[in-house]
Amino acid sequence: MKLHMALVGLTSLTLILGGCSSIPNPFEKEDQQNTDDQSHEDSQNQKDNQQQDTEQTDSPEEPKEPTNEEADLPSLEETVTVMGDGTKVVTNMNDTLVLVNKERNLPSDYIPEDLVIPNVPFPFEEDSPKKKMRKIAASPLEEMFAQAERDGIPLFAQSGYRSYDRQAAIFASNVQEDGEEEANKYSARPGQSEHQSGLTMDVTSPEVNFDLTQALGDTKTGIWLEENAHQFGFIIRYPEGKEEITGYQYEPWHLRYVGKKHAERIHEQNMTLEEYLGVPVEPVNTKK
Ligand SMILES: [Zn+2]
Repeated sequence: MKLHMALVGLTSLTLILGGCSSIPNPFEKEDQQNTDDQSHEDSQNQKDNQQQDTEQTDSPEEPKEPTNEEADLPSLEETVTVMGDGTKVVTNMNDTLVLVNKERNLPSDYIPEDLVIPNVPFPFEEDSPKKKMRKIAASPLEEMFAQAERDGIPLFAQSGYRSYDRQAAIFASNVQEDGEEEANKYSARPGQSEHQSGLTMDVTSPEVNFDLTQALGDTKTGIWLEENAHQFGFIIRYPEGKEEITGYQYEPWHLRYVGKKHAERIHEQNMTLEEYLGVPVEPVNTKK
């Protein structure tokens, strides 16, 4: 129990750091578009491919840069409602590509309808909502854990779904402890935690004492995740060196389900979800 509480505390503490630096955008918007030339939905490409049947063997043509629509990606502008106070609330909560971050909130009443407990090992016994994730992500998680085990990597699931109310309680507690200004620096506001989406699982291993620590990234487990998670539809959501883009510190344990096709593209292009979906990365004013 003590370990559990410590881990919960650590999770909430480490989840939402960063995001307040003002770093210029190293990527042009065009570069953030998906440039994968195997987009079968793309009508132009389909036209080009007519003589090639389904195989794309030769034809080293310059790949097009499809728009979000052509690449089957959600339009960022069309998937938010801007509230009176300027807060952006996402409207595609059930989309596996939903983008939740400090700019894009989940609705306060959003609870995924298909939450299940994946059949994977947890390093704690008690029943808890944090064992859950959406069914669409739970099966691939089970497959990934099974493959890891075959490869001699024992994975453990530490923290999945977290409700809006639970996140609100964590944030309120941190505010009480440190004051709002300080709490804001390390704690997620409710609605801004990706864990509410049910598409996320924090994963750990005995190699790091079941901790959620950046040291995981250098272990056999962390390296295995980095090299294999995409094959099961998961991405390392907060990669090292992308803190200014994601707004979060490096979290080698935080896996986000986006589906196999997108995970493979994101992995291949060494992108964050923000870049993949074409978020213009603007300098952020550091409010005092
Ligand atoms: Zn996490």
